[in-house]
Amino acid sequence: MSPKMVTPVEVGSVVEPALRIVWSDGHHSRYGWHALRVHCPCAACKGEWTTRRHVDPASIPSTIRPLRIERVGAYALRPVWSDGHSTGIYPFNYLRGDLCECEECAARRAAPSAP
Ligand SMILES: [Zn+2]
Ligand SMILES: [Zn+2]
Repeated sequence: MSPKMVTPVEVGSVVEPALRIVWSDGHHSRYGWHALRVHCPCAACKGEWTTRRHVDPASIPSTIRPLRIERVGAYALRPVWSDGHSTGIYPFNYLRGDLCECEECAARRAAPSAP
């Protein structure tokens, strides 16, 4: 199944040490809160750091975590962060295809055949 087609069947609580998603194809993902915030895809975060494509990790507190995570339609999640930031909308295919930290996905992204 293409990562573009999968949706979360379970999203962990914001009180957990990391974001936990169980996908409709059975894949389990974990995302560190800090890494997730650094990779915020909103225009403000990406636009400010066009050469790096994400926020300067040093500018984000290590204790960052969401106060809550809202579902956006049928395609994305929107965290409301403890630093007040809430304009980042994370599409499911971005979470699954680009940000999943598991060994399987990391190996797939590191493969030289990837475009
Ligand atoms: Zn942002
Ligand atoms: Zn994965």
